[in-house]
Amino acid sequence: MNELASKIRDYFKSNLKICYETVRKDEIYIRCTYCGDSQSNPHGAHLYIGLKEPYQFHCKKCETSGMVDFNFLKDNDVFDLDLIKEIVNFNKNYKRNNPLKTLNVKYKSLKYKVPALSGTTSELDKLKYINKRLKLNLTLKDIPKFKIILNLKKFFEYNKIDTSSKPAYEKKLLVTLHKYYIGFLSADNTFINFRRQNKDENLMRYRIYPIKNIENSNRFYIKPVNIDLMDQSHQVVITEGIFDLLSVYHNYIHEYDPLKTIFVAANGKGFYRVIKYLHRIGLINLDIHIYSDKDVNIKFYKKIKSTDLLLRKSKIKIFYNNKPAEKDFGVPLKKIERIYNIV
Ligand SMILES: [Zn+2]
Repeated sequence: MNELASKIRDYFKSNLKICYETVRKDEIYIRCTYCGDSQSNPHGAHLYIGLKEPYQFHCKKCETSGMVDFNFLKDNDVFDLDLIKEIVNFNKNYKRNNPLKTLNVKYKSLKYKVPALSGTTSELDKLKYINKRLKLNLTLKDIPKFKIILNLKKFFEYNKIDTSSKPAYEKKLLVTLHKYYIGFLSADNTFINFRRQNKDENLMRYRIYPIKNIENSNRFYIKPVNIDLMDQSHQVVITEGIFDLLSVYHNYIHEYDPLKTIFVAANGKGFYRVIKYLHRIGLINLDIHIYSDKDVNIKFYKKIKSTDLLLRKSKIKIFYNNKPAEKDFGVPLKKIERIYNIV
């Protein structure tokens, strides 16, 4: 076994509770994050990682397969920056030296996509609602790019997600979500964060719907972006909710690099989970801007910062909407008076 292969093996063996080896020691296998693996046997493991070049994986349960690359490592919470860099470099060289070889790239489960919309009355109503609330001019074409779900039925059909065997109460819930809610696909594409569109107080304002039940999933929302691990530092903008994010993105994007800035929606108190997640996928040097709710005060951010080794050295800018009667950024620009503090 070469050096990189044994590094991969050692990392998974020492960091995962469940990691076995094949008899021939040419593969290790772990629990599959894509399908959640066996529900009846908590020790069951079906995702095989090959320990020879090029490094590939496949799950015998859900058939998800692909390269051991940045995305795969990220999905598996690999935090070792050196290992990540080594694999990214290896893949780059391997592709360059073997241009004709078709690599087995077949991500299946996490490839949920928001389909293009045809403009049904209900889709247009929901779009109008977003635009009216934030005084924006989003069009139907912008919707997939923000992973916004205006048509849940179509989203399920497009991604071949079968709900026919769900229990009756869940089917009923899905009808309600389809009719009255706007959905946002979570960072890891396994959850949908729903926001009520109408004013019916009998319905909950927010709902979360798991497409797949995965332990430790990241339920917060990240606007799709290509993260380059090799960049020296990464700009992160964290907002309270998704409407705040849409507003901040459209009103202040000229202050950021739209191709590289990572826009995340996580409530103020949840911001630390986001930072932890970004650290885990190998982004250590973060330039953090938080667009906070007024009710989360500066002391809270200071306290969190002082307790974290990686955060302690960074400067965090905390923005507030200082307009009287407003509490956050999920409003039209004219209702925003932006101020900031540095912690
Ligand atoms: Zn699987």
